[in-house]
Amino acid sequence: MRPRLVLIGTGGTIAATAGDARTLTGYLVTQGIEAMLAAIPGARDVADIRCEQPFNVDSRNLGTAQVLRLARLIERHLRAPDVDAVVVTHGTDSLEETAFFLHLTVRSPKPVVLVGAMRPASALSADGPLNLVNALLTAADPASRDRGVLVVLNDCIVAARHAAKRHTTRVDAFGADGTGVLGAVTDGQARYSVRPDLPATAPFALSGLRTLPPVDVILDYQDAPAYPYAAAIQAGSRGLVVAAMGNGSLSPAAVRGCAQAIRRGLVCVRASRVPDGLVTDDAAQAGGSLAAHALNPLQARIALRLALARGMGRAEIDGLLRRL
Ligand code: ASP
Repeated sequence: MRPRLVLIGTGGTIAATAGDARTLTGYLVTQGIEAMLAAIPGARDVADIRCEQPFNVDSRNLGTAQVLRLARLIERHLRAPDVDAVVVTHGTDSLEETAFFLHLTVRSPKPVVLVGAMRPASALSADGPLNLVNALLTAADPASRDRGVLVVLNDCIVAARHAAKRHTTRVDAFGADGTGVLGAVTDGQARYSVRPDLPATAPFALSGLRTLPPVDVILDYQDAPAYPYAAAIQAGSRGLVVAAMGNGSLSPAAVRGCAQAIRRGLVCVRASRVPDGLVTDDAAQAGGSLAAHALNPLQARIALRLALARGMGRAEIDGLLRRL
């Protein structure tokens, strides 16, 4: 029997067109998912594909409401016995945030594959059509089961847990440096070299989540001011993630800002502005803030929002950050 896939279109450059074929950056989301699929020769031969379009936007416009809606939609399709896998087209700008949210909330043996493009559909050498076909092939392949949420771009299959946009314009924006790469799609076939070690259930269930508490990320640097911390407290943030220096080192203003926030009941997490490496415990300067360990600032923010939404306290959040 042919694999049965649900293809969910959400927008992004993969669904965008510009005035002429050499324009790679000034574009608008114009294509619906059905039309996008119909324009790719042979795409419908990969599987039985049912399309859905909950929204069609540039991913900079996405927020909690849409991401929660998308996650619920994916979960519903994964539960259906007549669906083998789900593919989601998504803008690359905030793709890693949606991918990490799904990593924390959706767990199924069935494949979930996010895909985008760096060049609009109207461009010379547009990367979207092949990326989409590769994503469909990956989702349809039984070898993709039990590997968690995946991201496919530029022939690379990347774990959502480690997906991050590492170049602003190149087609190898995800995975080219090898980070989080589980395998590759070569000549129409997904070939894996890594199987992630994932628990059977996601750390957070979606049920009952209507919204998520506000958590801000504050970048730290030489001469950093303290007012962003005061402003976040004043605005009602429930937690702060500092994109700190090095191994979570805090400037004097960040130390004061975190101390003030913690006194007001916020949870503060020290992640790092450095792209690689962990943030370890450092009792000397933590001042009650928690280390993000293996999470980058955006991932720490998403984990902290989910933890606070579930009513987790400081000690439980500390344990969670060590595990993720
Ligand atoms: N601005 C686009 C988006 O995130 C970028 C892309 O998809 O590559 O929707």
